[in-house]
Amino acid sequence: TQFDACLVEPLVKSLLRVLLYLRPHRALAITTLVCAACATAMELVPPWVIKIIIDDVIQAKQTSLLPWVIGLLVGAHVLKNMFASLRIRLNNQLEQTVVHDLRRHIFSALQHLSITYFENRSTGEIMSRVTNDTEHVERIFIDGLEGMLTASLTLLGITGLLFMLNWKLAVLSLLPIPLLALSASWFTSRVHGYYRETRQSAAELNGYLQDALSGIRETMGFGRQGHEQARFDRLSQAYSEKNLQAMVLWSIYSPGMILVAALGTVLILWYGAGEVMEGHLTLGELVLFLSYLAMFYVPINQIHSVNHMLQHALAASERVFEVLDTIPDVADRPRVAAPVHRAHGAVRFDQVQFHYRPDVPVLRGVSVAVPAGERVALVGMSGAGKSTLLKLLMRFYDVTDGVIVIDGKDIRDLPIAYLRQQIGFVQQEPFLFNGTVKDNLLYGDLNADQNRLESAARAARAHEFIAALPEGYDTWIGERGVKLSVGQKQRVSIARALLKDPPIVIFDEATSNIDTETEVKIREALNELTTGRTTFIIAHRLSTLHDVDRIIVLDNGRLVEDGRHDELVSRGGVYAGLYEAQFQV
Ligand code: ADP
Repeated sequence: TQFDACLVEPLVKSLLRVLLYLRPHRALAITTLVCAACATAMELVPPWVIKIIIDDVIQAKQTSLLPWVIGLLVGAHVLKNMFASLRIRLNNQLEQTVVHDLRRHIFSALQHLSITYFENRSTGEIMSRVTNDTEHVERIFIDGLEGMLTASLTLLGITGLLFMLNWKLAVLSLLPIPLLALSASWFTSRVHGYYRETRQSAAELNGYLQDALSGIRETMGFGRQGHEQARFDRLSQAYSEKNLQAMVLWSIYSPGMILVAALGTVLILWYGAGEVMEGHLTLGELVLFLSYLAMFYVPINQIHSVNHMLQHALAASERVFEVLDTIPDVADRPRVAAPVHRAHGAVRFDQVQFHYRPDVPVLRGVSVAVPAGERVALVGMSGAGKSTLLKLLMRFYDVTDGVIVIDGKDIRDLPIAYLRQQIGFVQQEPFLFNGTVKDNLLYGDLNADQNRLESAARAARAHEFIAALPEGYDTWIGERGVKLSVGQKQRVSIARALLKDPPIVIFDEATSNIDTETEVKIREALNELTTGRTTFIIAHRLSTLHDVDRIIVLDNGRLVEDGRHDELVSRGGVYAGLYEAQFQV
């Protein structure tokens, strides 16, 4: 039906897509399957041996046969379990390899998405996709595929054997199959939706948790533990309920299926007993038939539970593929080639317009040309658009109109990697990774040796405090290590920008209060960093503007003034106003 088709199609697509990950590991996958098939074939031997014992050894009294059939039985059990052991090993190896591929793939996709993707989602939610969701996809390989295939093989084998034994009984035992198939498709269509909700709910919980942990200081400061507990409880409760939804369905479905199967067996026993008494069937054959029948329903149930698990896994895989399929807002144009040399660093903004939301323009036609090597300060009220303008230069976003040009070339015609290699940026409150001071410095140039590292740190006026740390350059910093002050972080950040040695520098001055001594050090460090490089400084404290060549004033997304400090003060415009406000002259 149409209803089923529209539900099944995306499922099949996700499944096929997951299966594509098996491609590079074809040999391993096939070996695993062969092992599984062999183990299954071995499983069919014992009931046959039991039939021989009942009919030929016990009833026909062929005692000499006994040692042989017992030997056969032992052999079959040993072989079966040897294949099973091999199968488990290979299958797990396969599954770990594939899930590792998938995880790498999703992380790599994430790293190439644009900033907007991360701005519009909670970090915890994204993390949930990389870890929890891929783990669920893993289940497709653990019990899923293999279980499904061995179960199907077993079914086929047993059906063949049943028909060989007695076709009337075989037809009878197939009677419940249509019922089982119908309910399976009913279950699949319902449970998939539930699992989709479950995965989303898990991600919400994770997202909340990440947020709550990041904001723990606020929670403590406001004494809002109770409030947060209530929020957590609500989300956790919702997650449990979503899980339960699926389990309730399963609680009806699974025993229901087992009941149908059991009734099938009862039917066979009823009819079979008559056949034996009428002499159409030997006792051994009936026992054989019943043991195969018991084995026949095992894979059917197995297929049901695999189907159940598969629905959960596929719901998770959809979330993983969603990330893989996201097209970054900012991406390289086709066939862009990186210039051979590093840029000189002449930057021109030409009628640049930009908005985050269509109804709120943030930049309204900013034009300014900055020759290579010039030091420019950007000044203006908070929210005027200073950071946004420089984020556009780094292509964290693309202009909505106008162009930005470096050395005469539209930055959208340069590879993003090349563009960002030309720019060193120091954030207001730089982020330091969990790792040693050295690791963090090396971020500027992964190949720098200790000498270069130290001279960059000296130039950034950071060497002194780093040397005073408990383990010097090998001191662990970041969330799990020594905490550095904002001023220190900025100097580490300046040092790593120095190691990067870019022709263009963006420096976002810290807004938090920094003591005068630190400020002097940062200014010295900044001088070292910006000498001979095109520099943009987002200035919050106008006292620091002595060393710049030029000041640009932004007001509400427009460039309103452009000149030297003295000129702008004497002009008595926006800059003069800001200056007066800060120094109350
Ligand atoms: P400034 O650096 O001059 O303080 P910004 O460039 O940070 O100004 O911000 C300019 C305007 O854009 C502000 O109104 C701000 O709220 C808005 N804005 C900044 N970043 C974002 C964002 N990621 N999403 C939506 N709006 C933003």
